[in-house]
Amino acid sequence: MKRAPARARRVGRSAGLRIDEEGRVAGARYEPSPNCDERPPGCAIELIVLHHISLPPGRFGGDAICAFFTNRLDCSAHPFYATLAGVRVSAHFLIRRGGGLIQFVPCARRAWHAGVSAWRGRSACNDFSIGIELEGTGEVPYTAAQYRRLAALTRALLARYPIAAIVGHSDIAPGRKTDPGPSFDWPRFRSMLP
Ligand SMILES: [Zn+2]
Repeated sequence: MKRAPARARRVGRSAGLRIDEEGRVAGARYEPSPNCDERPPGCAIELIVLHHISLPPGRFGGDAICAFFTNRLDCSAHPFYATLAGVRVSAHFLIRRGGGLIQFVPCARRAWHAGVSAWRGRSACNDFSIGIELEGTGEVPYTAAQYRRLAALTRALLARYPIAAIVGHSDIAPGRKTDPGPSFDWPRFRSMLP
């Protein structure tokens, strides 16, 4: 899909969230992850992918998610972490239970969040997407603060990039992934968008 020039040039300011040229959001805590690389040349950002994560699974708070995405998780600290040894992944953003926003990868770069995936017949969704992780399980309801922050972030991204769709990881990797899960209230989220 061709990007609309006027929209592509639009400066990202929406709901107080500014996005700079590189795709960093002002106000987000920045924890740079090495688990990213360049997007293919000329590849527009057309998709937002929602995920969930909690580490260890079902437990909220703590530093484990940030440590995991920045390759400093102590894989001996919990039995589950042993399954993550050597795994190199990231997302562009994480929204914590209290609404805190952390950025790991500038939007201009390709974060490694979607894995084997396809959207409308296009594979390798990391090439053309932005990954947003919600701290959660997919079973426990997400918090009001998370919906507010996610909506503000999404509005800013919609204003800045030629986004064509917002999907769950489960939509682009069916049978393999279930996030953001049944507890994510899509109608509620969509009602908060322009
Ligand atoms: Zn996911």
